[in-house]
Amino acid sequence: MGVILLATDVKELLKRLEDGVSAIQSSDEWRRLLKAQAKLHGYSLGNVLLVLSQFPNATKIAGYHSWLALDRHVKKGEHGIQILVPIFPRKGPSDQTRSTADSVEPAETKTAKREPVFFKVGYVWDWTQTEGKGLPEHPARDLTGNSEEARLLLGRLVLAAEHEGLRVVYRDPSELRGAKGYYQRTTQTIVLAKSLAADQTAKTLCHELAHHWCGHGMPGAKRDRAIEEAEAEGTAFVVCEHFGIDTSDYTFGYVADWSGEEGPKIVKRVGATIQKAAQTIINRVELKQMKENEIQQVRSPEPVAAIGRGR
Ligand SMILES: [Zn+2]
Repeated sequence: MGVILLATDVKELLKRLEDGVSAIQSSDEWRRLLKAQAKLHGYSLGNVLLVLSQFPNATKIAGYHSWLALDRHVKKGEHGIQILVPIFPRKGPSDQTRSTADSVEPAETKTAKREPVFFKVGYVWDWTQTEGKGLPEHPARDLTGNSEEARLLLGRLVLAAEHEGLRVVYRDPSELRGAKGYYQRTTQTIVLAKSLAADQTAKTLCHELAHHWCGHGMPGAKRDRAIEEAEAEGTAFVVCEHFGIDTSDYTFGYVADWSGEEGPKIVKRVGATIQKAAQTIINRVELKQMKENEIQQVRSPEPVAAIGRGR
């Protein structure tokens, strides 16, 4: 049998995760980020295309007053980017038809189920057209390492996934809308973003495998994304750590982002699930490793170097 994860080791890792998440969530930067997320949230696909046709390098767009609320202002002489503002039927005094550019954002999401009566032209500005206080950085920083450990782990995770009957495919990041990967239970497919660093890719594949082995996305099951994401990312953290890859730069911020104010509490709640899923993935990987070693030993009399265990 493969290596057994020691409960004390996992406990220590979970404590690190909990502390990391709680440090992020109690920082000023975090509060600024929450505010920015609320102001800069998604536009409809049609409007995104419309914005890009006028401002191809746009990344973060918001209306005039939303920028002010983020302590930034539109620079003199910058032309607004036109978007279509859906105007919805009047319902009640608290749900009035609004038409200023800045009300586009809430209108598009909160009233998406109602049909707009008509559209009018509104204006937004990309953040490069604004100046003022810097935008808060997202606490989940992409892993940029290309460690030998990660490359070995990645190959073995792919084999473990295939052995489980899952398809692992790579897609252009633009098709993933900012995600690094996802798992689709109905088609038993894991999609990974192309051209990410090996550390990031190995961690993401662990994360998606954890969604699979934790039973997430079962048809008809009630979903709690905060719990599911903490389970998947926590598992990836433990597995990667076991194979000598430190994912804390990404993991702590990711879990903080999904778990809202409840971060550390949620990490405590999902600890047992993380331990189980991490053990499953490690067993599968070790099994592959043992088989590879057997094959290599048959092929060559030289001793095979111990792989992927460095800490
Ligand atoms: Zn996920």
